Amino acid sequence: MTRKEFIDKGVMMGMGLPFLSSMLLTACGKQHSIFPKFQTDFSGKVIVIGAGAAGMAAGYLLKKQGVDFEIIEAASIYGGRIKKVDDFVDFPLDIGAEWIHTDPKIFTDIIGDTNVNANIGTMVYDPQTIQTYKNGRLKSHNYLKGFYSEWKFKNTTWFDFFEQYIVPEIANNMILNKPITQIDYSTDKVRLKTASEEEYQADKVLVTVPIKILQKQLIEFEPPLPKPRKEAINHVYAGDGIKIFIEFKERFYPDILSFGNIFSALKREEKFVYDAAFKKSTDKHILGLFAINEQAAAYTKLNAEEAIIDKFLGELDEIFEGKATENYVKHLIQNWSSEPYIQGAYSYSFKESQFDVVEKLKEPIAAKIFFAGEALSIENQATVHGACESAYSQVAAMLENS
Ligand SMILES: Cc1cc2nc3c(=O)[nH]c(=O)nc-3n(C[C@H](O)[C@H](O)[C@H](O)COP(=O)(O)OP(=O)(O)OC[C@H]3O[C@@H](n4cnc5c(N)ncnc54)[C@H](O)[C@@H]3O)c2cc1C
Repeated sequence: MTRKEFIDKGVMMGMGLPFLSSMLLTACGKQHSIFPKFQTDFSGKVIVIGAGAAGMAAGYLLKKQGVDFEIIEAASIYGGRIKKVDDFVDFPLDIGAEWIHTDPKIFTDIIGDTNVNANIGTMVYDPQTIQTYKNGRLKSHNYLKGFYSEWKFKNTTWFDFFEQYIVPEIANNMILNKPITQIDYSTDKVRLKTASEEEYQADKVLVTVPIKILQKQLIEFEPPLPKPRKEAINHVYAGDGIKIFIEFKERFYPDILSFGNIFSALKREEKFVYDAAFKKSTDKHILGLFAINEQAAAYTKLNAEEAIIDKFLGELDEIFEGKATENYVKHLIQNWSSEPYIQGAYSYSFKESQFDVVEKLKEPIAAKIFFAGEALSIENQATVHGACESAYSQVAAMLENS
Protein backbone atom coordinates (compact mmCIF):
# COMPACT_ATOMS: atom_id res chain seq x y z
CA MET A 1 0.00 0.00 0.00
CA THR A 2 1.42 3.42 -0.90
CA ARG A 3 1.46 6.29 1.56
CA LYS A 4 -1.25 7.97 -0.52
CA GLU A 5 -3.50 4.91 -0.44
CA PHE A 6 -2.88 4.55 3.26
CA ILE A 7 -3.78 8.16 3.92
CA ASP A 8 -6.90 7.94 1.76
CA LYS A 9 -7.97 4.86 3.69
CA GLY A 10 -7.18 6.62 6.96
CA VAL A 11 -9.23 9.63 5.94
CA MET A 12 -12.11 7.38 4.93
CA MET A 13 -11.89 5.70 8.30
CA GLY A 14 -11.97 9.10 9.94
CA MET A 15 -8.40 8.92 11.16
CA GLY A 16 -6.37 12.09 11.42
CA LEU A 17 -3.35 12.56 9.19
CA PRO A 18 -0.91 13.10 12.05
CA PHE A 19 -2.20 9.90 13.59
CA LEU A 20 -0.98 7.93 10.63
CA SER A 21 2.31 6.86 12.00
CA SER A 22 5.18 7.12 9.56
CA MET A 23 6.57 4.01 11.20
CA LEU A 24 3.37 2.20 10.35
CA LEU A 25 3.49 3.65 6.85
CA THR A 26 6.99 2.37 6.44
CA ALA A 27 6.05 -1.02 7.78
CA CYS A 28 3.13 -1.48 5.41
CA GLY A 29 4.34 0.54 2.46
CA LYS A 30 7.05 0.10 -0.07
CA GLN A 31 9.97 2.42 0.46
CA HIS A 32 11.32 2.40 -3.02
CA SER A 33 14.42 4.29 -3.97
CA ILE A 34 13.90 7.78 -5.37
CA PHE A 35 17.46 8.23 -6.65
CA PRO A 36 17.46 7.22 -10.32
CA LYS A 37 20.23 5.18 -11.86
CA PHE A 38 20.68 5.70 -15.59
CA GLN A 39 23.19 6.65 -18.23
CA THR A 40 22.92 9.62 -20.54
CA ASP A 41 24.68 10.93 -23.64
CA PHE A 42 23.30 14.43 -23.08
CA SER A 43 26.02 17.00 -23.71
CA GLY A 44 24.05 20.26 -23.61
CA LYS A 45 23.44 22.74 -20.81
CA VAL A 46 20.62 22.64 -18.24
CA ILE A 47 19.33 25.54 -16.18
CA VAL A 48 17.33 24.79 -13.05
CA ILE A 49 15.07 27.62 -11.88
CA GLY A 50 14.73 27.74 -8.10
CA ALA A 51 17.05 26.48 -5.34
CA GLY A 52 14.57 24.87 -2.97
CA ALA A 53 14.68 21.15 -2.19
CA ALA A 54 13.69 20.21 -5.76
CA GLY A 55 16.13 22.61 -7.44
CA MET A 56 19.04 21.59 -5.22
CA ALA A 57 18.31 17.88 -5.65
CA ALA A 58 18.08 18.38 -9.42
CA GLY A 59 21.47 20.11 -9.46
CA TYR A 60 22.95 17.33 -7.34
CA LEU A 61 21.80 14.66 -9.80
CA LEU A 62 23.00 16.72 -12.79
CA LYS A 63 26.39 17.00 -11.11
CA LYS A 64 26.53 13.24 -10.52
CA GLN A 65 25.68 12.74 -14.20
CA GLY A 66 28.45 15.11 -15.29
CA VAL A 67 26.03 17.49 -16.98
CA ASP A 68 26.77 21.21 -17.38
CA PHE A 69 24.21 23.10 -15.30
CA GLU A 70 23.34 26.23 -13.35
CA ILE A 71 20.72 26.79 -10.67
CA ILE A 72 19.22 30.26 -10.77
CA GLU A 73 17.48 31.39 -7.58
CA ALA A 74 15.42 34.55 -7.07
CA ALA A 75 16.06 34.97 -3.35
CA SER A 76 19.30 35.92 -1.63
CA ILE A 77 19.43 32.49 0.07
CA TYR A 78 18.93 28.93 -1.11
CA GLY A 79 16.54 26.48 0.55
CA GLY A 80 13.14 27.86 -0.42
CA ARG A 81 10.59 26.43 2.01
CA ILE A 82 13.45 24.80 3.93
CA LYS A 83 14.73 27.54 6.21
CA LYS A 84 16.46 27.55 9.57
CA VAL A 85 17.02 30.12 12.25
CA ASP A 86 20.02 29.71 14.54
CA ASP A 87 19.71 32.71 16.79
CA PHE A 88 16.20 32.58 18.24
CA VAL A 89 16.92 29.90 20.80
CA ASP A 90 19.80 27.56 21.75
CA PHE A 91 18.88 24.93 19.13
CA PRO A 92 18.35 25.45 15.39
CA LEU A 93 14.72 26.00 14.42
CA ASP A 94 13.19 24.77 11.17
CA ILE A 95 10.79 27.58 10.32
CA GLY A 96 9.53 25.89 7.14
CA ALA A 97 9.61 22.10 6.74
CA GLU A 98 10.25 20.61 10.19
CA TRP A 99 9.01 17.00 10.30
CA ILE A 100 10.43 14.03 8.42
CA HIS A 101 7.26 12.53 7.00
CA THR A 102 8.85 9.22 6.09
CA ASP A 103 11.53 6.80 7.27
CA PRO A 104 14.87 8.57 7.90
CA LYS A 105 16.41 6.11 5.44
CA ILE A 106 15.24 8.74 2.98
CA PHE A 107 18.44 10.72 3.65
CA THR A 108 20.67 7.98 2.27
CA ASP A 109 18.23 7.64 -0.60
CA ILE A 110 18.35 11.36 -1.47
CA ILE A 111 22.15 11.19 -1.39
CA GLY A 112 21.88 8.20 -3.73
CA ASP A 113 24.87 6.39 -2.26
CA THR A 114 24.42 3.50 0.17
CA ASN A 115 28.03 3.93 1.27
CA VAL A 116 27.19 7.30 2.78
CA ASN A 117 25.55 6.98 6.16
CA ALA A 118 23.69 10.26 6.45
CA ASN A 119 24.44 11.03 10.07
CA ILE A 120 21.96 13.82 10.55
CA GLY A 121 20.69 13.09 14.07
CA THR A 122 17.01 12.26 13.86
CA MET A 123 14.69 11.33 16.72
CA VAL A 124 11.30 9.75 17.08
CA TYR A 125 8.61 12.39 17.45
CA ASP A 126 5.94 10.79 19.63
CA PRO A 127 3.96 13.41 21.55
CA GLN A 128 2.80 12.10 24.91
CA THR A 129 0.36 14.85 25.85
CA ILE A 130 -2.30 15.50 23.24
CA GLN A 131 -5.11 18.02 23.66
CA THR A 132 -7.92 19.55 21.63
CA TYR A 133 -9.66 22.88 22.08
CA LYS A 134 -13.24 23.14 20.90
CA ASN A 135 -16.16 25.37 21.90
CA GLY A 136 -14.22 26.78 24.81
CA ARG A 137 -13.24 23.34 26.17
CA LEU A 138 -9.75 21.96 26.52
CA LYS A 139 -9.72 18.15 26.42
CA SER A 140 -6.92 15.61 26.87
CA HIS A 141 -6.51 12.69 24.50
CA ASN A 142 -3.33 11.16 25.88
CA TYR A 143 -4.76 7.68 25.23
CA LEU A 144 -3.86 8.33 21.57
CA LYS A 145 -0.16 8.71 22.21
CA GLY A 146 0.66 5.18 21.04
CA PHE A 147 -0.93 5.84 17.65
CA TYR A 148 1.13 8.72 16.43
CA SER A 149 4.81 8.95 15.79
CA GLU A 150 6.99 10.39 13.07
CA TRP A 151 10.54 11.65 12.97
CA LYS A 152 12.14 15.02 13.59
CA PHE A 153 15.67 16.34 13.85
CA LYS A 154 17.30 16.29 17.28
CA ASN A 155 19.89 19.07 17.00
CA THR A 156 19.92 19.68 13.26
CA THR A 157 17.40 20.69 10.59
CA TRP A 158 16.27 19.93 7.05
CA PHE A 159 18.47 22.83 5.99
CA ASP A 160 21.50 21.24 7.68
CA PHE A 161 20.94 18.02 5.77
CA PHE A 162 21.10 19.86 2.44
CA GLU A 163 23.96 22.04 3.63
CA GLN A 164 26.04 19.02 4.61
CA TYR A 165 25.31 16.53 1.83
CA ILE A 166 23.88 18.33 -1.23
CA VAL A 167 25.14 21.93 -1.30
CA PRO A 168 28.89 21.08 -1.44
CA GLU A 169 28.24 19.40 -4.81
CA ILE A 170 26.30 22.35 -6.29
CA ALA A 171 27.55 25.47 -4.50
CA ASN A 172 29.65 26.59 -7.48
CA ASN A 173 26.69 26.24 -9.85
CA MET A 174 24.20 28.33 -7.85
CA ILE A 175 23.40 31.90 -8.76
CA LEU A 176 21.35 33.83 -6.18
CA ASN A 177 19.35 37.08 -6.35
CA LYS A 178 18.18 36.51 -9.93
CA PRO A 179 14.40 36.26 -10.25
CA ILE A 180 13.58 34.80 -13.66
CA THR A 181 10.80 36.78 -15.30
CA GLN A 182 10.70 35.26 -18.77
CA ILE A 183 11.29 31.84 -20.35
CA ASP A 184 11.51 32.07 -24.12
CA TYR A 185 11.46 28.66 -25.78
CA SER A 186 10.52 29.86 -29.25
CA THR A 187 13.92 29.00 -30.72
CA ASP A 188 16.28 26.05 -30.49
CA LYS A 189 17.84 27.27 -27.25
CA VAL A 190 15.82 28.33 -24.22
CA ARG A 191 16.47 31.95 -23.30
CA LEU A 192 15.83 33.19 -19.79
CA LYS A 193 15.47 36.79 -18.70
CA THR A 194 15.85 38.05 -15.13
CA ALA A 195 14.15 40.98 -13.39
CA SER A 196 17.29 43.04 -14.03
CA GLU A 197 17.22 42.12 -17.75
CA GLU A 198 20.18 39.73 -17.69
CA GLU A 199 19.97 36.80 -20.06
CA TYR A 200 20.87 33.14 -19.64
CA GLN A 201 20.71 30.41 -22.24
CA ALA A 202 20.32 26.64 -22.00
CA ASP A 203 19.31 23.59 -24.02
CA LYS A 204 16.88 22.44 -21.38
CA VAL A 205 15.28 24.08 -18.37
CA LEU A 206 13.81 22.59 -15.21
CA VAL A 207 11.30 24.91 -13.51
CA THR A 208 11.00 24.20 -9.76
CA VAL A 209 9.31 27.40 -8.55
CA PRO A 210 6.28 27.02 -6.23
CA ILE A 211 2.97 26.37 -7.98
CA LYS A 212 1.70 29.74 -6.67
CA ILE A 213 4.38 31.54 -8.70
CA LEU A 214 3.11 29.81 -11.85
CA GLN A 215 -0.53 30.50 -10.94
CA LYS A 216 0.21 34.20 -10.48
CA GLN A 217 2.06 34.18 -13.82
CA LEU A 218 5.12 35.81 -12.30
CA ILE A 219 7.13 34.13 -15.04
CA GLU A 220 6.11 34.85 -18.62
CA PHE A 221 6.43 31.99 -21.11
CA GLU A 222 7.11 32.75 -24.77
CA PRO A 223 5.19 31.27 -26.53
CA PRO A 224 2.54 31.15 -23.77
CA LEU A 225 2.00 27.79 -22.09
CA PRO A 226 -0.60 25.61 -23.81
CA LYS A 227 -4.15 25.96 -22.41
CA PRO A 228 -4.33 22.45 -20.85
CA ARG A 229 -1.10 23.19 -18.98
CA LYS A 230 -2.44 26.49 -17.65
CA GLU A 231 -5.61 24.69 -16.56
CA ALA A 232 -3.61 21.99 -14.78
CA ILE A 233 -1.59 24.66 -12.95
CA ASN A 234 -4.82 26.29 -11.80
CA HIS A 235 -6.34 22.98 -10.73
CA VAL A 236 -3.92 22.82 -7.81
CA TYR A 237 -5.09 24.51 -4.63
CA ALA A 238 -2.33 25.98 -2.48
CA GLY A 239 -3.34 28.32 0.34
CA ASP A 240 -1.64 30.59 2.83
CA GLY A 241 1.00 29.41 5.28
CA ILE A 242 2.46 30.70 8.53
CA LYS A 243 4.55 29.47 11.44
CA ILE A 244 4.94 31.30 14.73
CA PHE A 245 7.35 30.45 17.53
CA ILE A 246 7.10 31.94 21.02
CA GLU A 247 9.47 31.55 23.93
CA PHE A 248 7.72 31.39 27.29
CA LYS A 249 9.13 31.55 30.84
CA GLU A 250 7.13 28.49 31.89
CA ARG A 251 5.55 25.67 29.99
CA PHE A 252 1.76 25.54 30.24
CA TYR A 253 0.89 23.74 26.98
CA PRO A 254 0.84 20.07 25.89
CA ASP A 255 3.13 18.38 23.38
CA ILE A 256 0.50 18.99 20.71
CA LEU A 257 -2.85 20.75 20.63
CA SER A 258 -5.37 20.63 17.84
CA PHE A 259 -8.52 22.62 17.23
CA GLY A 260 -11.93 21.00 16.93
CA ASN A 261 -12.90 17.36 17.16
CA ILE A 262 -9.84 15.14 17.66
CA PHE A 263 -10.32 13.21 14.41
CA SER A 264 -11.87 15.77 12.09
CA ALA A 265 -9.61 18.57 13.30
CA LEU A 266 -6.45 16.62 12.68
CA LYS A 267 -7.64 14.97 9.48
CA ARG A 268 -6.61 17.83 7.28
CA GLU A 269 -3.83 19.10 9.53
CA GLU A 270 -4.52 22.80 8.89
CA LYS A 271 -3.68 24.25 12.30
CA PHE A 272 -2.01 23.00 15.42
CA VAL A 273 0.04 24.26 18.32
CA TYR A 274 2.99 22.19 19.50
CA ASP A 275 5.97 22.09 21.79
CA ALA A 276 8.76 23.01 19.36
CA ALA A 277 11.37 22.09 21.99
CA PHE A 278 9.99 18.54 22.36
CA LYS A 279 12.99 16.19 23.03
CA LYS A 280 15.46 18.94 22.01
CA SER A 281 18.57 19.58 24.09
CA THR A 282 17.36 22.76 25.74
CA ASP A 283 15.80 24.14 28.91
CA LYS A 284 13.88 26.76 26.95
CA HIS A 285 10.12 26.63 26.49
CA ILE A 286 9.32 27.16 22.83
CA LEU A 287 5.78 26.83 21.50
CA GLY A 288 5.11 26.57 17.77
CA LEU A 289 2.07 27.33 15.65
CA PHE A 290 1.62 25.64 12.29
CA ALA A 291 -1.24 26.97 10.12
CA ILE A 292 -2.10 26.67 6.44
CA ASN A 293 -4.95 27.64 4.13
CA GLU A 294 -7.85 29.58 5.71
CA GLN A 295 -6.44 28.94 9.19
CA ALA A 296 -3.24 30.70 8.14
CA ALA A 297 -5.10 33.47 6.30
CA ALA A 298 -6.69 34.51 9.60
CA TYR A 299 -3.19 35.66 10.61
CA THR A 300 -1.51 36.53 7.32
CA LYS A 301 -4.28 38.94 6.28
CA LEU A 302 -3.44 41.08 9.33
CA ASN A 303 -0.05 41.84 7.72
CA ALA A 304 1.46 43.72 10.65
CA GLU A 305 3.62 41.56 12.91
CA GLU A 306 2.19 43.14 16.07
CA ALA A 307 -1.38 42.41 15.01
CA ILE A 308 -0.48 38.78 14.20
CA ILE A 309 1.25 38.12 17.51
CA ASP A 310 -1.49 39.88 19.49
CA LYS A 311 -4.11 37.68 17.85
CA PHE A 312 -2.19 34.49 18.56
CA LEU A 313 -1.37 35.43 22.16
CA GLY A 314 -5.04 36.30 22.66
CA GLU A 315 -6.05 32.84 21.45
CA LEU A 316 -3.52 31.14 23.72
CA ASP A 317 -4.69 33.25 26.67
CA GLU A 318 -8.26 32.15 26.03
CA ILE A 319 -7.23 28.47 25.98
CA PHE A 320 -4.74 28.63 28.86
CA GLU A 321 -6.37 31.22 31.14
CA GLY A 322 -4.03 34.14 30.52
CA LYS A 323 -0.81 32.16 30.93
CA ALA A 324 0.49 33.11 27.48
CA THR A 325 0.75 36.85 28.07
CA GLU A 326 1.94 36.21 31.63
CA ASN A 327 4.85 34.04 30.44
CA TYR A 328 5.70 35.66 27.09
CA VAL A 329 9.40 36.29 26.42
CA LYS A 330 9.78 36.78 22.64
CA HIS A 331 8.46 35.57 19.30
CA LEU A 332 9.39 34.78 15.71
CA ILE A 333 6.96 34.85 12.79
CA GLN A 334 7.59 33.19 9.42
CA ASN A 335 4.83 34.35 7.10
CA TRP A 336 5.23 32.14 4.02
CA SER A 337 2.47 33.99 2.19
CA SER A 338 4.40 37.24 2.25
CA GLU A 339 7.62 35.69 0.89
CA PRO A 340 7.75 37.17 -2.65
CA TYR A 341 9.09 34.02 -4.28
CA ILE A 342 6.99 31.49 -2.33
CA GLN A 343 3.59 33.21 -1.77
CA GLY A 344 1.91 30.55 0.36
CA ALA A 345 2.20 27.13 1.96
CA TYR A 346 2.10 24.16 -0.43
CA SER A 347 -0.15 22.20 -2.76
CA TYR A 348 -3.06 20.93 -0.72
CA SER A 349 -5.88 19.70 -2.93
CA PHE A 350 -6.77 19.33 -6.60
CA LYS A 351 -9.88 20.40 -8.54
CA GLU A 352 -9.62 17.30 -10.76
CA SER A 353 -8.03 13.94 -10.00
CA GLN A 354 -4.59 14.55 -8.50
CA PHE A 355 -3.10 11.90 -10.75
CA ASP A 356 -4.43 13.55 -13.94
CA VAL A 357 -3.38 17.04 -12.88
CA VAL A 358 0.13 15.95 -11.91
CA GLU A 359 0.61 13.87 -15.06
CA LYS A 360 -0.29 16.97 -17.08
CA LEU A 361 2.09 19.15 -15.06
CA LYS A 362 4.88 16.64 -15.60
CA GLU A 363 4.68 16.64 -19.40
CA PRO A 364 7.67 18.44 -20.90
CA ILE A 365 6.94 21.42 -23.14
CA ALA A 366 8.60 21.29 -26.56
CA ALA A 367 10.97 18.64 -25.10
CA LYS A 368 12.85 21.55 -23.50
CA ILE A 369 10.93 22.84 -20.49
CA PHE A 370 10.42 20.47 -17.57
CA PHE A 371 8.70 21.07 -14.24
CA ALA A 372 9.36 19.67 -10.75
CA GLY A 373 8.62 20.49 -7.11
CA GLU A 374 6.50 19.32 -4.21
CA ALA A 375 3.21 19.76 -6.09
CA LEU A 376 4.37 17.30 -8.75
CA SER A 377 4.85 14.34 -6.43
CA ILE A 378 1.87 12.04 -6.25
CA GLU A 379 2.92 9.82 -3.37
CA ASN A 380 4.83 12.41 -1.35
CA GLN A 381 3.13 15.68 -2.27
CA ALA A 382 3.75 18.67 0.01
CA THR A 383 6.92 17.25 1.54
CA VAL A 384 10.65 17.84 1.18
CA HIS A 385 11.36 14.29 0.08
CA GLY A 386 8.47 14.57 -2.40
CA ALA A 387 10.11 17.65 -3.91
CA CYS A 388 13.39 15.69 -4.25
CA GLU A 389 11.64 12.67 -5.71
CA SER A 390 9.90 14.84 -8.30
CA ALA A 391 13.19 16.54 -9.24
CA TYR A 392 15.01 13.23 -9.63
CA SER A 393 12.32 11.71 -11.82
CA GLN A 394 12.07 14.82 -14.00
CA VAL A 395 15.84 15.13 -14.46
CA ALA A 396 15.94 11.44 -15.39
CA ALA A 397 13.13 11.99 -17.91
CA MET A 398 15.00 14.99 -19.32
CA LEU A 399 18.33 13.23 -19.75
CA GLU A 400 17.23 9.71 -20.60
CA ASN A 401 15.27 10.87 -23.62
CA SER A 402 17.95 13.18 -24.96
C1 LIG B 1 4.74 26.11 6.88
C2 LIG B 1 5.27 24.90 6.16
C3 LIG B 1 5.53 23.75 6.88
C4 LIG B 1 6.01 22.61 6.23
N1 LIG B 1 6.31 21.50 6.95
C5 LIG B 1 6.87 20.42 6.34
C6 LIG B 1 7.36 19.33 7.09
O1 LIG B 1 7.29 19.34 8.32
N2 LIG B 1 7.94 18.30 6.42
C7 LIG B 1 8.05 18.27 5.05
O2 LIG B 1 8.59 17.30 4.49
N3 LIG B 1 7.59 19.32 4.32
C8 LIG B 1 7.03 20.39 4.92
N4 LIG B 1 6.62 21.47 4.20
C9 LIG B 1 6.67 21.39 2.73
C10 LIG B 1 8.07 21.54 2.19
O3 LIG B 1 8.68 22.66 2.79
C11 LIG B 1 7.97 21.74 0.69
O4 LIG B 1 7.20 20.69 0.12
C12 LIG B 1 9.34 21.73 -0.01
O5 LIG B 1 10.33 22.38 0.75
C13 LIG B 1 9.15 22.39 -1.36
O6 LIG B 1 10.35 22.34 -2.11
P1 LIG B 1 10.34 22.87 -3.62
O7 LIG B 1 11.72 22.80 -4.10
O8 LIG B 1 9.26 22.17 -4.38
O9 LIG B 1 9.85 24.38 -3.53
P2 LIG B 1 10.56 25.61 -2.80
O10 LIG B 1 11.27 25.18 -1.59
O11 LIG B 1 9.51 26.65 -2.63
O12 LIG B 1 11.64 26.10 -3.86
C14 LIG B 1 11.31 26.89 -4.97
C15 LIG B 1 12.38 27.95 -5.13
O13 LIG B 1 12.09 28.71 -6.32
C16 LIG B 1 12.48 30.05 -6.05
N5 LIG B 1 11.82 30.94 -7.02
C17 LIG B 1 10.55 31.37 -7.04
N6 LIG B 1 10.33 32.16 -8.09
C18 LIG B 1 11.49 32.24 -8.78
C19 LIG B 1 11.91 32.92 -9.96
N7 LIG B 1 11.06 33.69 -10.65
N8 LIG B 1 13.18 32.79 -10.38
C20 LIG B 1 14.07 32.00 -9.68
N9 LIG B 1 13.73 31.35 -8.54
C21 LIG B 1 12.46 31.45 -8.10
C22 LIG B 1 12.07 30.27 -4.62
O14 LIG B 1 12.73 31.38 -4.05
C23 LIG B 1 12.44 28.93 -3.98
O15 LIG B 1 13.75 28.97 -3.44
C24 LIG B 1 6.20 22.63 4.83
C25 LIG B 1 5.97 23.82 4.11
C26 LIG B 1 5.52 24.94 4.77
C27 LIG B 1 5.29 26.20 4.00
